[in-house]
Amino acid sequence: METVVYVWACSNCHVRADPGQRFCRRCGTAIVPPPPIDEEQAEILAPAASPSRASRLWLLLLAVIALLFLALGGAAALVLAN
Ligand SMILES: [Zn+2]
Repeated sequence: METVVYVWACSNCHVRADPGQRFCRRCGTAIVPPPPIDEEQAEILAPAASPSRASRLWLLLLAVIALLFLALGGAAALVLAN
């Protein structure tokens, strides 16, 4: 069993690269950054990975605003009726 360790390395010639390096020193191939393993970074990426919760919040907010407008409209109608 081998544990997968993500490192900065060239995908073409597998030469290890420094973190943040953009291109391979040997062949010039663009370095693909390894996936984040930092827990802090994972937390930052988590909300973007699950947009359903954010859109649900937006729907709730829109519903509240719609209800407010309905209430205001109702109050205005009552004032105009009197
Ligand atoms: Zn290379």
